[in-house]
Amino acid sequence: VSLPIHDAVLGRAAERGELPALIDGAGELTLSYGQVDAFHRRVAAGLAEAGVRKGDVLALHSPNTVLFPIAFYAATRAGAAVTTVHPLATPEEFAKQLRDSAARWIVTVSPLLPAARAAAELAGGVQEIFVCDAAPEGEDVRSLQAFLGSTGPVPEIDVDPDEDIAALPYSSGTTGVPKGVMLTHTSIATNLAQLEPVIPMGPGDRILAILPFFHIYGLTALMNAPLRQGATVVVLPRFELDTFLGAIQKHRINGLYVAPPVVLALAKHPAVAEYDLSSLEYVVSAAAPLDAALAAACSARLGLPPVLQAYGMTELSPGTHVVPLDAPNPPPGTVGKLLPSTEMRILSLDDPSKDAAPGEEGEVAIRGPQVMKGYLGRPDATAAMIDTDGWVHTGDIGRVDDDGWLFVVDRVKELIKYKGFQVAPAELEALLLTHEGIADAAVIGVTDADGTEIPKAFVVRQPAAAGLTAEDVMAHVAARVAPYKKVRAVEFIDAVPRAASGKILRRELRDRELRDRA
Ligand code: ATP
Ligand code: MG
Repeated sequence: VSLPIHDAVLGRAAERGELPALIDGAGELTLSYGQVDAFHRRVAAGLAEAGVRKGDVLALHSPNTVLFPIAFYAATRAGAAVTTVHPLATPEEFAKQLRDSAARWIVTVSPLLPAARAAAELAGGVQEIFVCDAAPEGEDVRSLQAFLGSTGPVPEIDVDPDEDIAALPYSSGTTGVPKGVMLTHTSIATNLAQLEPVIPMGPGDRILAILPFFHIYGLTALMNAPLRQGATVVVLPRFELDTFLGAIQKHRINGLYVAPPVVLALAKHPAVAEYDLSSLEYVVSAAAPLDAALAAACSARLGLPPVLQAYGMTELSPGTHVVPLDAPNPPPGTVGKLLPSTEMRILSLDDPSKDAAPGEEGEVAIRGPQVMKGYLGRPDATAAMIDTDGWVHTGDIGRVDDDGWLFVVDRVKELIKYKGFQVAPAELEALLLTHEGIADAAVIGVTDADGTEIPKAFVVRQPAAAGLTAEDVMAHVAARVAPYKKVRAVEFIDAVPRAASGKILRRELRDRELRDRA
């Protein structure tokens, strides 16, 4: 699909007219499709008048609001590439991204203006900062809302969808430094078209946006896909369990796109019973491994069909696998089937130049139109990720069954090597969560006194399970796994460190382990 992203998503917005596109879940504001179409064009005109030119990078620094999509599509229509920024980034982190991406413009929100100013100061090179919401009293900053009155011409930029960058998201930084991922208009638009038949959303569907729009999963599943297909998106600025459950009830949400921690909350949290969630028709989980038993507990509690999974990564625009909504009997735990016009290989873990034997685990490699153009300014990292034949080496371990369903085990780099055996932390985490006294858990490999790598569990106790001991935890796992997979050390913590996308930050646990030992 060779189209500018704003046309690929909003091509039918004007004709949809009064149909609600975006609802502010916290307040009362609703934007119709007609308004989204008209507003983003006016804002694009204002941005062009302010000096935004083709090829400029614009940093969008905002929690989820109904104005986020307006700012995003206005910027691309004005010719800019949008780099989305974590709203809670420190000025230093934000400045790094500004510098790395050579951003010239920032769009933020009033409460975050001081952080954006500090970041721009540190980075240099930023020409102007705008806010999406009303400009704060006495502050010298322009609001995108003022552009709604702009009378200038809507920019007609000559976009080359196959070459020009539409979005420059940064990878989550789960395994290292976040890298700027160059996604062209075509790679994003094509991925939306690939996803459309398998997760159809249309007028009448009500989707809840609790995952952040700044991350590729939220950007795709909660913004681009539903707006392209005519669904209504209820927007919440952050995940908070009661607000989330209340919004499902109030807005009669029928489709949820979440990450595993939300599935965990839906399966286990007592508050879930206090809300009427009967409008829900399906739940999709992606971004991190989801255990089949946990998924089953969630759907059983909600009285829903099995939790569906999807798989992808920022570098793949992001989707490659989805369990189709209408799949009659997807096997438990699968992340889905390969999307159309995409190829996959499972590479041998011993010799990556060869394919793994059928049904065997190996590294997932992907080729297709959704592959990124590369990492911005990092040719070496790009070459390490995309081989000369165009295959992306995902770094994830997977296996495919006879019917073509993919199962993702964990990341290659996070496997724990216990005395020559490989242990996937995700499998142990899932097992730990089946203990009723355990609210949350994460597992990493640590070196014990003999220099052997062993699995160590970081465990958050349920409030009612203050007496849970390390021995209880180890015994629970030992009774259920082969001896080499046993958890051999346990530490109780208050909360598992997670990225905004819901991924466990095992790197932070490793750092903490090193600190504690030093
Ligand atoms: P970085 O690349 O900067 O270390 P990251 O890999 O976490 O960060 P993302 O692009 O947000 O950045 O995440 C993609 C990764 O998320 C995949 O490589 C995979 O490890 C994981 N993932 C996504 N969906 C699933 C899923 N359904 N099951 C298991 N893992 C998943
Ligand atoms: Mg990655």
